[in-house]
Amino acid sequence: QQHLVSIRDWIRFGVSCFRGCDVHLGHGSDDPFAEATALVMQTLNLAWSADAEIIDAVVLPSERAAIAEVLKRRVNDRTPLAYLLNLAYFANLPFYVDERVLVPRSPIAELIESRFLPWLSVEPQRILDLCTGSGCIAIACAMEFPEAIVDGTDISIDALSVAALNVEHHELTERVGLIESDVFNKLPGQRYDLIVSNPPYVDAEDMADLPLEFTREPELGLASGVDGLDITKRILAEAADYLTDDGVLVVEVGNSQWALQQTFPDVPFVWVDFIRGGQGVFVLSAAE
Ligand code: GLN
Repeated sequence: QQHLVSIRDWIRFGVSCFRGCDVHLGHGSDDPFAEATALVMQTLNLAWSADAEIIDAVVLPSERAAIAEVLKRRVNDRTPLAYLLNLAYFANLPFYVDERVLVPRSPIAELIESRFLPWLSVEPQRILDLCTGSGCIAIACAMEFPEAIVDGTDISIDALSVAALNVEHHELTERVGLIESDVFNKLPGQRYDLIVSNPPYVDAEDMADLPLEFTREPELGLASGVDGLDITKRILAEAADYLTDDGVLVVEVGNSQWALQQTFPDVPFVWVDFIRGGQGVFVLSAAE
């Protein structure tokens, strides 16, 4: 690596590390150039800039080992980019992340940005994010609905520690509460206008066959029993008791539309098609 002189050289080298290797992209970026650039620039403590003076600057010998190491952690060890950067974006907001939480990603971000229209007709006063992880959904909801009080729950104390950091970073300690709860069990008597969740929903077969990056994530955030529906079924069975009369439930699911409709024939599902690897979101109104 002695021939790698400038930042540009190292980014090119980084891109070449991804080539011909089965690295799973999509944990925060979707192309090798973006990943290599982010890793090189963060290691050098520089903001990304295409400015020639920056990009052609010489990388010091002492910095080379650090860049080589971070590229190795990404490409050989398959550590997700977001964990190496301690940063992921969700609904255009930055979040601190590490191995204690899933890397934020959910089509629910798009629903938040469109204020859950057309399903949510009134401004929600109280919002619940079940299985909040990094807190990204709870926080994005609090930003989109500045009048709302938001609760985020998780069974993982580790995840809640990360969520607490993010709530502080976004200066939302007044409006976003975090509760250690196994689904609804610590929320007796509470009612919410909007309940949102991206629960774990990977089935046992898929869990055995995950890309390596996913195996670096907490299993608690992904696995949900043999059919992947353990948590989703609990949410569906109990949600009506925690929704206000016009309340709406939005839950991300995998390819389980048919199984869920069979199990809950009375639930008025509205299936929202998101074309992203079979992921879907459904909305349920307790009013019906
Ligand atoms: N397939 C989803 C993903 O990794 C599973 C996430 C989840 O279980 N909530 O994006």
